[in-house]
Amino acid sequence: MPNPTDDPDDFDAVIIGAGVLGGAIAVELSRRGLHTLNVDKASAAGAGSTINSCAIVRFSYSTVPGVSLAWEAMHYWTDWAGYIGTTDELGLVDFHRCGMFNLVIEEGDHSSKVRALWQELGIPFEDWTLADLAERMPLLDHGRYGPPRRPDDPHFWDDADGTITGAIFTPDAGYVSDPQLSCHNLQRAAEASGGEFWFNAEVTSVDQADGRVGGVTLADGRRVVAPVVVNAAGPHSAVVNEMAGVFDSMGIKTRALRHEVHHVPAPQGFDFMADGMVGADDDTGFYFRPETGNNVLIGSVDPKCDDREFVDPDDYDTVLSQDQWEAQVLRANRRMPTLGIPHEKKGVVDLYDVSDDWLPIYDRTDLDGFYVAIGTSGNQYKNAGAVGQLMAELIEAVESGHDHDASPVVVSGRYTGWPIDVGFYSRNREVNPDSSMSVHG
Ligand SMILES: Cc1cc2nc3c(=O)[nH]c(=O)nc-3n(C[C@H](O)[C@H](O)[C@H](O)COP(=O)(O)OP(=O)(O)OC[C@H]3O[C@@H](n4cnc5c(N)ncnc54)[C@H](O)[C@@H]3O)c2cc1C
Repeated sequence: MPNPTDDPDDFDAVIIGAGVLGGAIAVELSRRGLHTLNVDKASAAGAGSTINSCAIVRFSYSTVPGVSLAWEAMHYWTDWAGYIGTTDELGLVDFHRCGMFNLVIEEGDHSSKVRALWQELGIPFEDWTLADLAERMPLLDHGRYGPPRRPDDPHFWDDADGTITGAIFTPDAGYVSDPQLSCHNLQRAAEASGGEFWFNAEVTSVDQADGRVGGVTLADGRRVVAPVVVNAAGPHSAVVNEMAGVFDSMGIKTRALRHEVHHVPAPQGFDFMADGMVGADDDTGFYFRPETGNNVLIGSVDPKCDDREFVDPDDYDTVLSQDQWEAQVLRANRRMPTLGIPHEKKGVVDLYDVSDDWLPIYDRTDLDGFYVAIGTSGNQYKNAGAVGQLMAELIEAVESGHDHDASPVVVSGRYTGWPIDVGFYSRNREVNPDSSMSVHG
């Protein structure tokens, strides 16, 4: 429990945020013997943006580092009990390894680029013809309707212009049952190594001492002293960077982007939980996965025709909008014509913490001792385990005097042994031209 007196509490590292990243970083640092404290203004672990994550585990990124980090990180989910290494009275999450397909629209599209990366890295996958697709996912229309449009576009209901080409399928992809529970699992794992968590604890100031970070002060006046502070504040990352005085010195910035995800009952007679899978369709502009209660969860792949709604993370509309509900559900109906459109809107509204190039920032900052695991751009839930490892090794190296800016730390993935060049995630990189500039990463 926090100290109610005026004396500051001492820790080796304070992590701002107890979402999936803050939790995973705490696990790794506490296992390395650091006395960690996660402070979160919410009332429980994972109650920030992680709670509404679709928690899809996939490898369809646009860069070699992106695909390899996701592949390494998948092993944390398949070995979850081993990785967590302790019990949780709420139970452990399940990883539903149902597989995922990406529709191939034409040569040179995102799926074709991903296919080349999978080949290069040896990620297991299958090429599906339209006949394979019909057999494995019979609900789908194979028409080509793109580019994605909004329903008020006069061409939205145009007949198909030919067909898509097929799909690429990764059998190892899937989704995690309960993203908030995964954060509780991480909390219990960190606590088993001496980590502490304070909830309803809002950081209002990142403090400095002797020219480096010195700790944090909370809204209720409590002070925590620590030589290391990690910004894992999700969509509030820019706010926390401002508090630390590093916002301006970050080459790549982050902003909160409002996003909606919708839930629609599965087509009659189709058991989506048992026979469904994860799918992505860049032709109509949506992705989907099975959702509890035999629903189809429908997300957006951020097509160009959709306005990007950057917001103040403390002041945005948390109600589903009619416009976006129609856009996403009607797009899904083009591809899955038996889906239908329920009268009642269901789904969630939450925020992505989007970086300038939709790739995350895992780095130190210009303030010694202050680190960032931010800019997760709607696609880093799956990577949490591996990010915990890379952040812990980065912090260990830099705190031991390593010049990460001059010679970036390279981590060897715990499960695959693959190199993870932390420099790829630098705050001062050029905007990466290979990025999809969307949730694909
Ligand atoms: C709708 C949606 C769908 C997504 N789908 C997927 C997906 O399918 N697959 C995937 O890999 N990723 C997905 N993502 C992205 C993924 O969920 C995020 O990248 C990830 O959850 C971010 O975790 P985090 O710990 O960084 O942030 P958060 O979970 O937001 O945690 C940050 C925490 O910091 C706390 N905080 C903020 N400011 C302060 C402060 N001043 N003081 C104290 N505490 C503070 C907050 O309360 C919060 O709990 C999705 C995201 C969203 C929103």
